[in-house]
Amino acid sequence: MRHPFNVPMTARRLRARLDALSDERKARVVSYIDRDEFGRHATVCCKRCGDPIVDGRGRPLTLYAELTMQFEDGSYHTTCLCRSCAGSVRTLADLEELYVTDLCEMLEDEKFLPGRCPLQEIDARVPKRVAGIWTLDKRPVR
Ligand SMILES: [Zn+2]
Repeated sequence: MRHPFNVPMTARRLRARLDALSDERKARVVSYIDRDEFGRHATVCCKRCGDPIVDGRGRPLTLYAELTMQFEDGSYHTTCLCRSCAGSVRTLADLEELYVTDLCEMLEDEKFLPGRCPLQEIDARVPKRVAGIWTLDKRPVR
C-alpha cells in the first residue's frame, strides 16, 4: 500500500543529505539512467564518470561492476558503476555520495512506479563499509 506522505518525507531527507555533501560531490549527483516515457530503464551510465555500463537493451557492458555496501543497521545495498570507478571507492564519503545518488534515482522511479521501493524505510541508512566489489563475471575488483 502506498503512503503518499512518505515520498515528500524522503525528498526532504534526501535534500538534507545532498546539502551535507561537499560541492565537488554534489556536482556528481546527477541522473545516470535514461528512461523511456513509461519509466523503464534503458541505458545506464556509471554514476561517477558517466561511461555507459548497461546498453539500451538492458545488457551490462564489459566494464560493468557492482559494489555492495553495508549500512550501520546491518542491511546492504548493491549499486553499479564502471570497473574503474568501483575500484576507486575508498571512503565513507564515497559511499554516502553513491547512496545519495541512488536514492535520487529511486525517487525518480517513484514517479513512474509508485510504491515500488520502500523509500521511507531505506532513506536514512548510513553506509558503514564496502562489503565487496565484483565484475560482471563475479571476479573481485580489489
Ligand atoms: Zn566510472
